[in-house]
Amino acid sequence: MLPTFPTLEAPHLGEAESRRLAEIARQVRRDSIRMVAAAASGHVGGPLGAAEILAVLYGHEMRREPRDRFVLSNGHLSAAYYSVMARVGLLPVEELATFRRINSRLQGHPSRHDLPDLVEASAGPLGQGLSFTNGLALADRLDGNGARHYCLVGDGELQEGQVWEAAMTAAHYRLASVTLIVADNGLQIDGTVENVKALRPIGERFRAFGWHVLEPDGHDINGLVAAFARAREEKHRPSVLVANTVMSKGVPAWEDQAAWHGKAPSLEEARAALAVLGESPEHRDFPIAGVNL
Ligand SMILES: [Mg+2]
Repeated sequence: MLPTFPTLEAPHLGEAESRRLAEIARQVRRDSIRMVAAAASGHVGGPLGAAEILAVLYGHEMRREPRDRFVLSNGHLSAAYYSVMARVGLLPVEELATFRRINSRLQGHPSRHDLPDLVEASAGPLGQGLSFTNGLALADRLDGNGARHYCLVGDGELQEGQVWEAAMTAAHYRLASVTLIVADNGLQIDGTVENVKALRPIGERFRAFGWHVLEPDGHDINGLVAAFARAREEKHRPSVLVANTVMSKGVPAWEDQAAWHGKAPSLEEARAALAVLGESPEHRDFPIAGVNL
């Protein structure tokens, strides 16, 4: 049973902006399903579960000037990461059709070698992203450029000891520009986080390490916007959003099941899922050669 968190008071986002971000999240879900099904390999559970987090980060929270930085530590969420960058105009949407193909820039795990202007850190081995984010934050502090720093991790990833070394580092250096987001879905590839190696209460653990802790609903756009705004107001400590999410959110047949952590849907399963997500005139699905999807 996943815990529920109180809804944070949201600033006035405006109906249109809220709808725009929700539409980005829905398109991220559609893209992720099509990309992974067409490649016949990859992950859908995490990308579907992080759609609102990524939509709010890339569609609303992060600034281009000064250049705020985002590190995807759980690199297996790459489909959603590439999709959201495409949907805010940082990558050609058509390029999403090359996901996981040989010589594509869009490898199964993000590669800075292939996308040096967009990917801050190559990822895949779990547990390293927060350390990297701290390094970026320390460097940007020296440069005095005012950039903010965001890092997304999975809850299972918190089992890696390096994350807690990095948590100590961020608090020690008072890296208030750092906001860590934990996609807290209670699952990891081998089952429930509780059974593999228990972590709760996650917020209390970060508090004990000197962090400013917020606990938004990871699918509530207004709540996420509010949580990021509060994190920005914190001037002395790093912030963490322990965001309650559901693996495979949006496709009920796949929701809250560890089996969907790292499995590609068949084309038939993908078509059924896309039907559940609905069609709308705003969808700009890209063609994928040789795949009827
Ligand atoms: Mg998880």
